[in-house]
Formats: sequence, C-alpha cells, structure tokens
Amino acid sequence: MNASDTPAGTMGGNPEQLRQECICPECPTYTPCARDAQELLYCVAGRSPRCITEDLGCICPTCPVADRIGLEHLTFCLLGSEAAQRAGRDAR
Ligand code: SF4
Ligand code: SF4
Repeated sequence: MNASDTPAGTMGGNPEQLRQECICPECPTYTPCARDAQELLYCVAGRSPRCITEDLGCICPTCPVADRIGLEHLTFCLLGSEAAQRAGRDAR
C-alpha cells in the first residue's frame, strides 16, 4: 500500500492536487464571486472571506477529497475548515 493512499498520508499532503479535485464549483451554494476569486478547498483553507453568504446545500459528501482526508463536517465555505469545526469554533 502506498502511504499517499491513506487518509493520514494525504492530510497535510499536496493541497494543489486536492484543489484540483474540489467540486465546490458544482455546488448550488458556490457563487460567481467565489469562482472569480478562485476559491476552493474550503475544508482545508477555511470559510469564504466574503463571496459566500447563503447556504443552498453542500455537496461535499460526494467529493473525492472528503473520503480521502476523512472529513466529518459540511458547509466549510460558511462554517470554517474541518479542523476549525472539530475544534468547535468558527474560523474567521
Ligand atoms: S470536501 Fe468540499 S470543500 Fe473540500 S475539496 Fe471537496 S468540495 Fe471542496
Ligand atoms: S464547502 Fe460545501 S457548501 Fe460550500 S461551496 Fe463547497 S460543496 Fe458547496
């Protein structure tokens, strides 16, 4: 088994590769503003600074990254990164 195939091996791994797999642009909550700002990977990077304000549903559970790095939460663009949500606080 390759270490990069495991959640532990990928967490903190290659963010650029994870960005390429992020399906946020297909989500109803994602906005043209977020697209223009090239915002992606909210699960790691934290919430959108200004582009996303309304929760219209989250498709993160169907994203390959969610399985890969073992995400337990949702709606990262509004609620903060996985790490922040696990810590029980908002990521500003
Ligand atoms: S889990 Fe959500 S925020 Fe993270 S990469 Fe996938 S679609 Fe983007
Ligand atoms: S984090 Fe979830 S709710 Fe936000 S844009 Fe990505 S898929 Fe949609």
